[in-house]
Amino acid sequence: MTALASDDDPVQDVVARAAAATRALAPRTLSPGEVRARFATVDTWVFDLDNTLYPAGSTVWPMIDERITRYLADLMGIDGMSARGLQKYYYKRYGTTLKGLIEDHAITPGAFLDFVHDIDRTSLAPNPALVQAIASLPGRKLILTNGSRDHALRTTEQLGFADAFEAVFDIVAADLVPKPEAATYERFFATHGVDPSRSAMFEDLAKNLQVPHARGMATVLVVPSTTVEDNREPWESLGSAEPFVDVVTDDLAGFLAGLAFGQAREG
Ligand SMILES: [Mg+2]
Repeated sequence: MTALASDDDPVQDVVARAAAATRALAPRTLSPGEVRARFATVDTWVFDLDNTLYPAGSTVWPMIDERITRYLADLMGIDGMSARGLQKYYYKRYGTTLKGLIEDHAITPGAFLDFVHDIDRTSLAPNPALVQAIASLPGRKLILTNGSRDHALRTTEQLGFADAFEAVFDIVAADLVPKPEAATYERFFATHGVDPSRSAMFEDLAKNLQVPHARGMATVLVVPSTTVEDNREPWESLGSAEPFVDVVTDDLAGFLAGLAFGQAREG
């Protein structure tokens, strides 16, 4: 009997289960029309900074990462390898190394943020296509980052943004509580008068899109192009199939331009 075939054939059973699992993991794909409809009412555009407004293959994040390690090594008087382990422990446990340092040690956040973001950004190529695409979006544009405001300003300047962003809500504005804590998004919405139901969030980390989606934001996961290096932790690049991710793109400028706000839309 056909209905019992899988019971009779363990190999077929495994194949069928694998196929079902693959379907369940496949990113949801909306049609271009559905995507436009989802974003048609958006009037506030919220961007993460690191690995979102610049490619995850850039050396910017590894340079910051390395300076965080050096800060820990200097602070604790430990070797680089031990500092690295502690850094990753803090990051996984607290969301940022800074939060871990504040919980465990009395450090000055400003000094930490200045030290770790004191990097050379000249290797970061200006991105006129992204600058143009963001300029064409109707409404407000803000940055919501777990980094510092100064880092966001320097980095966006290097990318070629002049005054594209109304404000940077940084880790200090968040009272040092990092995304994905719900309290940080609520504080961001309140501080800048953002209505999440009319907003979109762009992020390279899927976990940081869960609360925005629950609060009604359209969510876009920005993933590295498969042709470039990804300098993030492997476990961080998971999540493109999560139900709170509306759109996955490896070309942020192209995606925004495709929303066609800069020109008359086709019907
Ligand atoms: Mg990021």
